[in-house]
Amino acid sequence: MFDDREPKVPKVPYAVAGSQSENKTGSWRDQKPVVDKNKCINCGLCALHCPDGAIEIDSNGAKINYDYCKGCLICQNICPVNAISSEREQK
Ligand code: SF4
Ligand code: SF4
Repeated sequence: MFDDREPKVPKVPYAVAGSQSENKTGSWRDQKPVVDKNKCINCGLCALHCPDGAIEIDSNGAKINYDYCKGCLICQNICPVNAISSEREQK
């Protein structure tokens, strides 16, 4: 008898937004977002939209945790003042 509680697809690595406790996705990154602290206005939009919960906001602005940032660049696209640029990841 098939057990419906068992997953029917292989497990795929995924990030848990905000938890930063498992499944580090930093090695997936091809493009690296870089925050210009002089432009950042601490609005928090990048942290709100980051699918990996990889951005923290403090009094100095947005801070990216590269252990979890997978380089999707949603943060760069969402930033209202273009404070985030991107560069090719060095591997
Ligand atoms: S590129 Fe930006 S939005 Fe995407 S995972 Fe990295 S910090 Fe989060
Ligand atoms: S979206 Fe841009 S301005 Fe807002 S906190 Fe992030 S980097 Fe700073």
